[in-house]
Amino acid sequence: MPGTSSAKKFYITSVLASRCPRCREGKVFQKDNAYSKNSTQMHANCPVCGQPTEIEVGFYYGTGYVSYALSIALLATTFVAWKILIGVTFSIDDNRIFYWMGCAFTLLFIMQPILMRMSRVLWLSWFVSFDPKWKEHPIDQPERIVREQMNNW
Ligand SMILES: [Zn+2]
Repeated sequence: MPGTSSAKKFYITSVLASRCPRCREGKVFQKDNAYSKNSTQMHANCPVCGQPTEIEVGFYYGTGYVSYALSIALLATTFVAWKILIGVTFSIDDNRIFYWMGCAFTLLFIMQPILMRMSRVLWLSWFVSFDPKWKEHPIDQPERIVREQMNNW
């Protein structure tokens, strides 16, 4: 959508929309729907600016920690919302904490595909910086490839 791209140039919206961190336009995932099969499959390169999505071998191993952190954040948010909207006490006759647990973990389970995709986009965005003038600049080549080129000199 070229006409709406300028509205999506903010960091947070580009992360939420699973866009490439370099141009904030290209989609990093091959599928739009987080609930489709193999929904974490990424394009090898950003379809818009050509940014590689896998910077080095095993680049996405660290995303486990990110999705863990996102899960904790989600649980904390639902707890605060539950406390405000429904109320929670830790009294022995108050079952509301268990209702929260049931709802929160169900929500967490349902949202897993979204969290996994989001953690990959976040992870990539911490290594690749936004370049509004990406058309004028060459792509930062992955280190592994740069090193191979140097060995050939
Ligand atoms: Zn891009």
